[in-house]
Amino acid sequence: MKVIHDLNEIFAQIDFVRRDGKKIGLVPTMGALHAGHLSLASKAKQECDIAVTTIFVNPTQFGPNEDLAKYPRTLEQDLDSLAKMGCDYVFVPASDRVYSPTHSTFVTPPRVATRWEGAIRPGHYQGVATIVLKLFQLIPAHVAYFGLKDYQQVRVIQSMVDDLNIPIRIEPCETVREADGLAMSSRNRYLSPDERQRALGLWNALSAAHGMVHAGQCDVAGIESAMKSQLEKAPVDRIDYAAVVHPETMEPIERVDDLAVAIIAARVGNTRLIDNRILLPPS
Ligand code: AMP
Repeated sequence: MKVIHDLNEIFAQIDFVRRDGKKIGLVPTMGALHAGHLSLASKAKQECDIAVTTIFVNPTQFGPNEDLAKYPRTLEQDLDSLAKMGCDYVFVPASDRVYSPTHSTFVTPPRVATRWEGAIRPGHYQGVATIVLKLFQLIPAHVAYFGLKDYQQVRVIQSMVDDLNIPIRIEPCETVREADGLAMSSRNRYLSPDERQRALGLWNALSAAHGMVHAGQCDVAGIESAMKSQLEKAPVDRIDYAAVVHPETMEPIERVDDLAVAIIAARVGNTRLIDNRILLPPS
């Protein structure tokens, strides 16, 4: 496994293997890798000739009061895990090389970025779209793997790729969960044992939504109120949103007559968690 820090070198190496006819799979991450990240890397390895993982805690997607400084950084362990699963290249650029002092160009994110995370974290998706586009330029991959854990992020990237005609295929990947349902997240390590227990409220709320739709209760107001009850029962410390939305536009809907997605963001202690679940009414 080659670990590359230099921007020119990663482009030269991947461009070279691509010209050699190899299929390249890219997995962008911010490190502190867990089984969710590794499932993306392993899918890239299975489906492509060359798997490239990037580890970069992207400063432009963090708000001024967010956890950039204390975001977990576990590079040695990350490299170990990636080497074990057969990753071919890891790109670990320095922040001041990715964003030079004169850097001033940013991507205006697509309409699907407007609500939810986009509304609560101003500038977040601008930062995400910008770094992802930069990574796509630096690493000419055929396929990029993104986790559905960050459902709205997947929609943002898909729309950007469509709108800007970027020649890469986006492959959304299933959320990997702990045995009790909690979605794996680098931020779970902030949770105390009590908070870890209460964090299950997100999964319980999503399961309640799923159960109602499965039973034919498709009125969104009722589903959202059941989700909020579960979150209050946990209890979580703050609900940013608990909503049922259109799976493509991310706009609110009134009834689940077709595929929809339940999305939640809530704070447990000082940790902000997000999760979601696809809802499909019985046919
Ligand atoms: P992050 O390091 O949090 O930016 O995540 C890097 C990639 O891993 C993103 O595409 C995430 O959606 C994905 N990811 C994070 N957690 C999970 C999970 N539990 N299951 C699957 N993918 C995940």
